[in-house]
Amino acid sequence: MASAYKIQEHTFDMVVVGAGGAGLRATFGLAQKGLKTACITKVFPTRSHTVAAQGGVAAALGNMGEDDWRYHFFDTIKGSDWLGDQDAIEYMCREAIPAIIELEHQGVPFSRTEDGKIYQRPFGGMTTRFGEGPPAQRTCAAADRTGHAILHTLYQQSLAHDAQFFIEYFALDLIMDEQGACRGVLALDMAEGTLHLFKAQGTVLATGGYGRAYFSATSAHTCTGDGGGMALRAGLGLQDMEFVQFHPTGIYGAGCLITEGVRGEGGILRNSNGERFMERYAPSVKDLAPRDMVSRSMTIEIREGRGVGEHKDHILLDLTHLGPEVIHEKLPGIAESARIFAGVDVEKQPIPVIPTVHYNMGGIPTNYHGEVVQLRNGNPDEVVPGLYAIGEAACVSVHGANRLGSNSLLDLVVFGRAVANRAAETIKPNGAQAKLASDACDKSLARLDKLRNASGGTPTAVIRDKMQRTMQADAAVFRTGETLAEGVAKMREIHASFADVKVTDRSLVWNSDLIETFELSNLLDQALVTIVSAENRKESRGAHAREDFPDRDDANWQKHTLCSVDEAGNTSIDYRPVHMYTLSGDVDVIPPKKRVY
Ligand SMILES: Cc1cc2nc3c(=O)[nH]c(=O)nc-3n(C[C@H](O)[C@H](O)[C@H](O)COP(=O)(O)OP(=O)(O)OC[C@H]3O[C@@H](n4cnc5c(N)ncnc54)[C@H](O)[C@@H]3O)c2cc1C
Repeated sequence: MASAYKIQEHTFDMVVVGAGGAGLRATFGLAQKGLKTACITKVFPTRSHTVAAQGGVAAALGNMGEDDWRYHFFDTIKGSDWLGDQDAIEYMCREAIPAIIELEHQGVPFSRTEDGKIYQRPFGGMTTRFGEGPPAQRTCAAADRTGHAILHTLYQQSLAHDAQFFIEYFALDLIMDEQGACRGVLALDMAEGTLHLFKAQGTVLATGGYGRAYFSATSAHTCTGDGGGMALRAGLGLQDMEFVQFHPTGIYGAGCLITEGVRGEGGILRNSNGERFMERYAPSVKDLAPRDMVSRSMTIEIREGRGVGEHKDHILLDLTHLGPEVIHEKLPGIAESARIFAGVDVEKQPIPVIPTVHYNMGGIPTNYHGEVVQLRNGNPDEVVPGLYAIGEAACVSVHGANRLGSNSLLDLVVFGRAVANRAAETIKPNGAQAKLASDACDKSLARLDKLRNASGGTPTAVIRDKMQRTMQADAAVFRTGETLAEGVAKMREIHASFADVKVTDRSLVWNSDLIETFELSNLLDQALVTIVSAENRKESRGAHAREDFPDRDDANWQKHTLCSVDEAGNTSIDYRPVHMYTLSGDVDVIPPKKRVY
């Protein structure tokens, strides 16, 4: 059966799966270093979710007031609720400065200050003087379309450096050898229906997040965590999957994002009494508290009866006092989104908002070079040869239990660049590649054949809907042992029901039914691992808020979860230590403290 499928072979030094900000930064960096590089992407590069990023990218440039990368380092650790690895955080915050200047030189059209410097706005949790000073203006912005600007520039740079693109190719599986090294990836050309094996010395997963495991998410429908799914099928564990970020301001009903930059520019959250309630929860930084805290505060307001609307089930984001000039110059995209998706004129009316799934702190574990690591033979940092992960698909971990706004675009460019640097040091251009076993692709082909001919009784969309509703209800902003246990039981059942999936189209050419089924399978594995990890972690930290364990418990839980799942849906859990050390003597380790703002 498997042999009925013809496979076209390609050989590269490096293959990057994903053409979002992370994948493109790696792709052009690798090509620039003289490595023969392929970039495979299921959507056209500039349609990747990074294009939707609005608010900006953090770097302590100090263009608009006092700043220092060490303050950024402190804020990121505190934001992570002490689950972030401090060596990786030092690397990111320090490298932020050259990485952003590079972007500027490559052509990103940042907004400007009066004297021509990159414009920077305040963002949640970004402060000065190790949390003691006023909010930092650290987030570099191109109006409210920063991701769009960055993504287009990076694509142009990739083309300029002769990287080879395989567009609308869907990566199916990693090809691993008997020694556990990654040797490349198998992909389906969705337009032609042909199969392609990309052999490479190094494979980089830059496939983005898996927000679509939930019913309401700000992320694109393509954010199905295919890289995480591939890693799990290759037997690898995913890290800290219980930490799912809810963005405070998704548009009520539609789920689209209203950037935190709105609050950075002075926007205010109000309850049904018109009260600026964040003053009660975070007296010093108020509406610019980190996302986990604002989302919880909004949820409490709604629960206590101070929500707005017919069902008193959402909150208002007021920017009427900002004036048309700030709105036109700094937030034009927001004004448009609010008009289209909420029917609101932001100069005159507040926007109805609700916490909405936005970002996955968890992912494929890596070190700060972007090399995938696993706990093996007692070594928690053992590198998986030939495999890298970057961007939202990865867990470096710089965001720990809660990511600060504008640190993700930063993570993309810093670690995309780090992978290119690492590969340049360790990989020889045109280096020899050992022969692959003749059956290296058989397992993946068998799965393809099985799903393509799946003739069960349950359509893909029905299983997906059940998964999304279960995750939305049972792995939410607030969690309890009871709802999580119930959620785990339900997710196990839904995961098992995939055996009965029904695919109606048997063709390989533009078979969206089949592609959605592959995506669902990737989502199901990650949804299960997420809720199992959440049930397992008996404390509250960052975005993981348990009502039955309201406090952070460093003695027992300052450690990374590593969760894997086998074909039968059995999950297993392990742990990796949090890196409580830095790379240089230029900063001191920040010991855990109570996290108040
Ligand atoms: C609406 C919105 C606004 C945001 N605003 C900000 C912000 O202002 N600042 C900030 O720091 N962060 C922001 N974020 C977060 C940040 O934008 C994302 O985390 C980041 O863009 C993810 O980038 P990425 O490169 O990892 O993946 P993506 O941009 O999601 O790209 C994934 C790529 O992988 C490819 N791919 C996936 N699966 C496959 C497969 N099976 N085969 C082949 N290719 C595949 C896709 O084609 C795509 O090219 C925002 C997120 C959202 C949703």
